[in-house]
Amino acid sequence: LLLPYLPAMAGLVAAVLPIRNGHVDSAVELGATLLAAMLIARQIVVLLDNRRLMASISHQAFHDALTGLANRALFADRLSHALELHRRDLRPVTVLLIDLDDFKTVNDSLGHPAGDELLIRVSERLRAVVRAGDTVARLGGDEFAVLMEDGGDPVQLAGRILASLEHAVSLGQRSVPVGASIGVATLHPEDAAASSADMLKRADLAMYAAKRSGKSTMCLYSSDMEHTASGELDLRAALAAAVNGEQIDVAFQPILLADGSLGGFEALARWNYDGAPVPPGVFLPIASRLGLSARLDELVLCKAAREATSWGGCLVLSVNLDGQTLSETGFADRVLDVLSETGLSPQRLAVEVLESSLIEYDEPALDTLRRLRSEGVRVVVDDFGAGYASLVRLQALEPDVVKIDRSLVAVDAPPDQSTALLTGVAQLAHQMGAMVVAEGVETESQLSAAIAAGCDAVQGFLLGRPTTARLCREIVTRDRTAERPGTTTHAWVPRQAPAER
Ligand code: C2E
Ligand code: CA
Ligand code: CA
Repeated sequence: LLLPYLPAMAGLVAAVLPIRNGHVDSAVELGATLLAAMLIARQIVVLLDNRRLMASISHQAFHDALTGLANRALFADRLSHALELHRRDLRPVTVLLIDLDDFKTVNDSLGHPAGDELLIRVSERLRAVVRAGDTVARLGGDEFAVLMEDGGDPVQLAGRILASLEHAVSLGQRSVPVGASIGVATLHPEDAAASSADMLKRADLAMYAAKRSGKSTMCLYSSDMEHTASGELDLRAALAAAVNGEQIDVAFQPILLADGSLGGFEALARWNYDGAPVPPGVFLPIASRLGLSARLDELVLCKAAREATSWGGCLVLSVNLDGQTLSETGFADRVLDVLSETGLSPQRLAVEVLESSLIEYDEPALDTLRRLRSEGVRVVVDDFGAGYASLVRLQALEPDVVKIDRSLVAVDAPPDQSTALLTGVAQLAHQMGAMVVAEGVETESQLSAAIAAGCDAVQGFLLGRPTTARLCREIVTRDRTAERPGTTTHAWVPRQAPAER
């Protein structure tokens, strides 16, 4: 840093010496002045440069490089500062934790650049809806946070955030829906000792409660959530015991053919803990984390298959299989064993696999499906239209049935008309040679839209909620005696005889 000054000083001294000796040379004088001026100028440039660099380094240290929002360090700093102010003059402090729903699916199926782009779009929307003075941060991954320090209604803000994410984000040619789960933690005067880590943990608990209650929603922190969090540990042990002790129950939801006749039932896992039902959305992910999915799925299959043999006729039993289950070696054989033990013919079994897990299927999973199909079991792609599975992969799977996701069926259309989307998806599935089931049919107008779109079968609360095995048998008997003049089609007949495959 100092080296350039040495020759410069030497030059200056050499120039000034003759002046002291009484020889004044105007050229030397001019040179010396110029040299001094340039030195000063250089010094100023260096100072300014350093200041700019420092500013950018400290900005980088406290901001997220991708979105430009505050990062975790700055957020934590602002939060602890806000908590100190709260202790001094009870200024309100609220943390909103925002976690995108299903971001992993976007990242996996569309690639990381698309994922990054989505995060940037989301950060812009967040910035647009917060109030001036709120701190918006990206804490990492797909997790964002907002700090409200000067009052204001966090519920309103959460509502604005959810509304801002209602419109899909366009990434290149695609339009990708985004949803978020928001947890809100507000500091109350009675627990002023809470640290910033406590606040983040509370917002996190509330956020998970929001995720559990169905995504794209918000939840306020309450102290009993602490118990559910520690309760998850109990839940894990209890679930493992229930699966091993075969205490998982099965509910059956009817699937009706377009002509109104009964086509079959979907088996849905049910679990009661402490006398209360635990939603499948809660216990299935726990089972998956515990590596219990395959046992659970097999248990449901066993119980349901035993029941299905009593229905008689050609009613089809549909069971759900997790991606993990499919990858388990020998699972196809276990399914076939269950079929021979219970006496249910393979043609009367359908296995439902999620569209979203299609992209994750490895060779063993595809082998399981191929093996089952070669024995005559039907393969159903579930929740179609909710994920982003590539059509190439879908076609490679050659599904026998495509179940159109609730979200596409719930779109409101004028009576007796279907939306272009529903019709398009149904046509696509038909072109692949699959039959089409519309799920989540809740209203008469959704039913007529599904029929108008060409769906072969329908399932939903309007036609029957998931029910007990006993009530199922009643439904079967009622269907058998029902008068349906002029209806002969039976779409559940396999589109190809298994032997021809
Ligand atoms: P899914 O396969 O899409 O099953 C249909 C879900 O939608 C069921 O929720 C059902 O109760 C609900 N449903 C049916 N009709 C309607 C309707 O008209 N409106 C609305 N809003 N909902 C309707 P459930 O029983 O909570 O199951 C949730 C998910 O858990 C299932 O979604 C399935 O993916 C999974 N699942 C359930 N049982 C099993 C199982 O034994 N094994 C595996 N691997 N997954 C299972
Ligand atoms: Ca299903
Ligand atoms: Ca489904």
